[in-house]
Amino acid sequence: MATYGYRCDVDGPVDVKLPIGTAPATIACPNCGEPAARVFTAPMLGLADRRRLAAIEHGEKSRDEPDVVSAPAGAPRRQTRMAPPNPAFARLPRPLT
Ligand SMILES: [Zn+2]
Repeated sequence: MATYGYRCDVDGPVDVKLPIGTAPATIACPNCGEPAARVFTAPMLGLADRRRLAAIEHGEKSRDEPDVVSAPAGAPRRQTRMAPPNPAFARLPRPLT
């Protein structure tokens, strides 16, 4: 169910709960029965989670203007440690010079 806004000439703004996608352009006012036209309002973004909104906004921005980076985000780069040399390699024959 979603809440749709209508404006009745007699009662003013009226909210009606209807299944999503089924809101007609006009309804009979639930208070007086007069025809009430649908009113479109901004979505209630103030009630949404700010971090989720920021993530959505960043995702939409990165489609057209992706951030240019020179290194992966996160941990700073550090040298990869080599495995310690195998002592058995010291016993192998050396090439002749
Ligand atoms: Zn009314």
